[in-house]
Amino acid sequence: MKTFEDYLARLYKMKPNIYIGNELVGRDDPRLQGGQNIIKVTYDCAHSEEFEDLCVVTSHLTGKKINRFCHIHQSEDDLLKKQLMTRLLCHRVGGCIQRCMGIDALNALSVITYELDQALGTDHYERFKKYLRYFQENDLVASCAQTDAKGDRLKRPHEQEDPDQYLRVIETREDGIVVRGCKISITNTPYADEMIVVPCRYMGPEDKDYSVAFALPTDWDGVKLLTRPASFRKSEHMEFPAGKFGDAETFIIFDDVFVPNDRIFLNGNGDPRQTAYAGFLALMFAHYHRHSYTGCKPAITEVIASAAALVAEYNGIEKTSHVQDKLSHLIGTAELVFAAGESSAKHSEKAPSGTQVPDEILTNAGRRLAGEMIYEEYKVLADISGGLIATLPYEGSFFSEDVGELAMKYMKRNPRVKPENVLRCFRGIEAFAVSEIAGLLQVAGLHGGGSPSMETITMMMRYDLEKLKNISKYLFGIKSKLKRYERPTVTPRKQLEKFRKAMKGKKLEK
Ligand SMILES: Cc1cc2nc3c(=O)[nH]c(=O)nc-3n(C[C@H](O)[C@H](O)[C@H](O)COP(=O)(O)OP(=O)(O)OC[C@H]3O[C@@H](n4cnc5c(N)ncnc54)[C@H](O)[C@@H]3O)c2cc1C
Repeated sequence: MKTFEDYLARLYKMKPNIYIGNELVGRDDPRLQGGQNIIKVTYDCAHSEEFEDLCVVTSHLTGKKINRFCHIHQSEDDLLKKQLMTRLLCHRVGGCIQRCMGIDALNALSVITYELDQALGTDHYERFKKYLRYFQENDLVASCAQTDAKGDRLKRPHEQEDPDQYLRVIETREDGIVVRGCKISITNTPYADEMIVVPCRYMGPEDKDYSVAFALPTDWDGVKLLTRPASFRKSEHMEFPAGKFGDAETFIIFDDVFVPNDRIFLNGNGDPRQTAYAGFLALMFAHYHRHSYTGCKPAITEVIASAAALVAEYNGIEKTSHVQDKLSHLIGTAELVFAAGESSAKHSEKAPSGTQVPDEILTNAGRRLAGEMIYEEYKVLADISGGLIATLPYEGSFFSEDVGELAMKYMKRNPRVKPENVLRCFRGIEAFAVSEIAGLLQVAGLHGGGSPSMETITMMMRYDLEKLKNISKYLFGIKSKLKRYERPTVTPRKQLEKFRKAMKGKKLEK
């Protein structure tokens, strides 16, 4: 396993291809440090006694100890530990831990590349394993670039007026492919080693050029990162641990980029039969990512609940019934979302590749609940805090020779709490609820991993309503086949098996 220092040394050797505004900057730009500090937590915890049981695991490929953020889940226990690790590490950074996109993409690729080979006789799974070995040995950090620019939302990729609105293969060569397009809203890429690119939707036969998946170093030739970093307001007098963390979202532009063969995991342009697997891969990444959300979202809700409980105490209203009621809803949401992920792990199954796949209905139900509740949670925090979180004088006023004492006098609330701690509490909530990064976390809570309607679509694709109707038919005396009740879902494994049979029945020439 590598250390944070190893990671940073690798990063600082990369070519500058990051644009912040119109500035071309290197990976040592101070605006990217907040994100790197978050990644540091994932390395440090793997080397700490306290978190080793969660953050370190044995690779199924090499038998060596690796960071869990590089692992392919082999069992229910692996899924449970990944979920708990995500929750606990997110507490420590007060938000997204930013290393789950890579692990989620790797797990999805492990399932789908295996399927491709079984159905089509290709060698994608061997390529993937070689890449995984390299990834695990170097303890790499990856982003996952799924979201395309997408142009007109109601048009499929090949129907767009501008054919580059979805990333596409413009040429397949003997030694690789050339791709063009732009992936938007992608987290962590300027401080990731690698970016793993996957399709963002189902693709029909006419969309073969858009059915592509690959991995590249983030400073690869032709790749341009248009980055928007976000951080907390700098503090001169009252540093706080969360204040050193930050985030960065990126437009990744692929300006006719060459991808060598050993890094390609799906290519409908070179082999149109592979187009059929683009949708499976898109959904499988989203599925693993939504399962990760059942770990991180409860943590973020708990950060909000914890701040609400603290400010309630400082405001002297902790025991009032409306506050108790509101806090209980926050706690309830966090626990329900986490429980959905846990239950999803308990109902998980092995894909033919050996990778453990969580239950889709439970994962999506948990993720959707989290997305729907996010603004409600911030509402509770703002409600219990009062307006001061948005109107607090700048920190300097409290340390001014002229007015500092006066300013502090009016921060006094609960007589048992020092005014300086009241100030710290309001500064902290200001950072978490009304800063630039707070705005980002709110939208991330809603759209990250897919907008709520995407979870609805997945659930309704997988849930067998005809079997559900049997309950009411039975109760209403309509002829039905009500057997002992089981959740009527079509699991990913069943889907893949059915699909593999159908593919084998087709003519398999390229
Ligand atoms: C902070 C943050 C971090 C992110 N990180 C990543 C990342 O690391 N990797 C990544 O790949 N993505 C990332 N995303 C992107 C995220 O997955 C998308 O925002 C999400 O999938 C929604 O896509 P969109 O933003 O293009 O919105 P749109 O798809 O444009 O959605 C807007 C609205 O239109 C609706 N809509 C869209 N299409 C249709 C249709 N055909 N019919 C009916 N309604 C439709 C949606 O339901 C929604 O209500 C991130 C997003 C955020 C906010």
